[in-house]
Amino acid sequence: AALNRIQALEPQLRSFLSVTADLALAQAQAVDAKIAANEEIGLLAGIPLGVKDNMCTKGIRTTCGSKILENFVPPYESTVTQKLAEAGAITVGKTNLDEFAMGSSTENSAYQVTANPWDLSRVPGGSSGGSAAAVAADECVVALGSDTGGSIRQPASFCGVVGLKPTYGLVSRFGLVAYGSSLDQIGPFGRSVEDTAILMGAIAGYDPKDSTSLQVSIPDYTQSLKTELKGLKIGVITETFGEGLDTEVAEAVNKAIETLRDLGAEIQEISCPRFGYGLPAYYIIAPSEASANLARYDGVKYGLRADNAENLMDMYTRTRASGFGAEVKRRIMVGTYALSAGYYDAYYLKAQKVRTLIKQDFETAFTKVDVLLSPTAPTTAFKAGEKTADPLSMYLSDLMTISVNLAGLPGLSIPCGFDRQNLPIGLQLIGKVLREDQLFHVGYAYE
Ligand code: GLN
Repeated sequence: AALNRIQALEPQLRSFLSVTADLALAQAQAVDAKIAANEEIGLLAGIPLGVKDNMCTKGIRTTCGSKILENFVPPYESTVTQKLAEAGAITVGKTNLDEFAMGSSTENSAYQVTANPWDLSRVPGGSSGGSAAAVAADECVVALGSDTGGSIRQPASFCGVVGLKPTYGLVSRFGLVAYGSSLDQIGPFGRSVEDTAILMGAIAGYDPKDSTSLQVSIPDYTQSLKTELKGLKIGVITETFGEGLDTEVAEAVNKAIETLRDLGAEIQEISCPRFGYGLPAYYIIAPSEASANLARYDGVKYGLRADNAENLMDMYTRTRASGFGAEVKRRIMVGTYALSAGYYDAYYLKAQKVRTLIKQDFETAFTKVDVLLSPTAPTTAFKAGEKTADPLSMYLSDLMTISVNLAGLPGLSIPCGFDRQNLPIGLQLIGKVLREDQLFHVGYAYE
């Protein structure tokens, strides 16, 4: 059914960069055979899954939305996809993304622009726009995304689905193509909080192959869903209701806050005074880390190698000039500039100090409340092409989500209504470190 749906919708949606139909059918038959033989099947047996194309899948092309990896077929499997395969999930394809996960609309993909299923003239958000659109349009039941500054939560919000950015270190990144290594996290998308919690339970956990992986035990996230909200303290972040917030988004989020109050939560306003500095700090830190991570694409080890080079340096230069898109080049330039001698203290070091202050604001807030709340994005989905000429206005769509990555905290986006154009609106719940259970709890009660 998922493959039929993909075949019918892909001409308009373009959520997938590759569809692995044969493999998916073979996996489905294997599940059927197990059922027929009365053998035990995994938790996700037979569930169609979309995987963002920046996670390595052995033997299946993994492009990262970039021309430089157009023909890259990984010789190994990422831990998350390995775990999901073992749980019986069926990967139906690799989903579209902004090149190297740099973007907020999926328009930076070197291959195609994904449409928002609610309005085909609009973007699905990004960078995990393919995964969000695929789940929203029923092309798969759940999907994986990655979130460096909002890339799971913002597309979840734009497409009216649920998306979680887990605590830094809770999900293994082995096999995830690195963007900003101190920020990147893999996380789940689902149409409901329950589906998302189940997928999270299946991918979380310690992995010796990832040096940032946390050695903690994983709770059964579905257990926390059905308890009451009574007494839970939710803090509404004052700074996220200021300038730039669309009035219809504000209305919907305020209405959701009232619903949560009716459900028994104690609501209070909380100030995180340095919240707004997250965006400028992020756009120094993430490009700096990206400039180092992307140094490996030199035409020697992976993917593309330019022809007709005169010498080694010329080969590097031609490969990178033709293989990377404009946004990726912009990030590499900003990052190398911020890290260079003479500018390091003024930009990179300063941004790291700001990052610490933002983290401290969250720590103070969490002495007063259990969960923080904000809109997920300042607006609903914008029109394709609307922001491509102005990178700064594109960066602004990450205003609400970025600080959460800087602090390493979990963040959940859940749908909370529609604007007058029938476009979905998202609500963000931010938790203490490793308290994904509380986010699922609040999200489920609201839903
Ligand atoms: N839009 C942000 C960026 O371009 C965040 C992307 C992400 O989370 N991968 O960096």
